[in-house]
Amino acid sequence: MAATILIVEDEEQIARFLELELRHEGYLTCKAADGRQGLDMALEGQCDLMLLDVMLPELNGLEVLRRLRRTSNLPVIMLTARDAVMDKVSGLDAGADDYITKPFAIEELLARIRRALKNADMNSEKGNGVNAAQNREDADVLVNGRVVLDKKRHTVKVDEHTVDLTQREFAMLQTLLENVDIVLSRETLLDKVCGYDYMGETNVIDVYVRYLRSKLDDAFGFKLIQTVRGVGYVIRSEQEDV
Ligand code: CA
Repeated sequence: MAATILIVEDEEQIARFLELELRHEGYLTCKAADGRQGLDMALEGQCDLMLLDVMLPELNGLEVLRRLRRTSNLPVIMLTARDAVMDKVSGLDAGADDYITKPFAIEELLARIRRALKNADMNSEKGNGVNAAQNREDADVLVNGRVVLDKKRHTVKVDEHTVDLTQREFAMLQTLLENVDIVLSRETLLDKVCGYDYMGETNVIDVYVRYLRSKLDDAFGFKLIQTVRGVGYVIRSEQEDV
């Protein structure tokens, strides 16, 4: 059965765009243009996931989320502005499953929706309410093919060979490995790798990708980080050999 996505967004144009794209993907949708209405609709329990803007009339997105989390595990993806540092941090603290930065590529949002719905499914099967973001970030060791990244030890190994990475290369690889099969835009990667307040050009991301490719792909003969033209970068669960 098609999942129902609740869109809580006061900017009519964005709300309509999301509605059209989501319906095109086969989802059912409903919309709320302010926080209070959004919260009421979410609490009615008719939808499977909420896309929640932060800056909203009546109740802001963070307040909606806080009130919702008192009684509900509904998956929530926050829509935040590029420069709104606090939104993202407070959003995750207040129990958002994920966030995406405006302006975003629709492919990335769709991938995040699929993942949040899948995680919610798995959690309900397990009969617990662990939120998806926590699950993912609790894994200390990320493995993809021959690459093993240990977050606690801060090491990366390929076939037991240690690879020396700088802080930012490491952060970049970790972000990609935590989002396997999700194409991440340069903006998203910039946020995670350089920090929310970084105001430089997004092409520094291309530079880090180049460094990582020379230290990993070229050195060990595989193709880890894929370029998706016009969108960004991704590490696939099924790795290609060269
Ligand atoms: Ca808004």
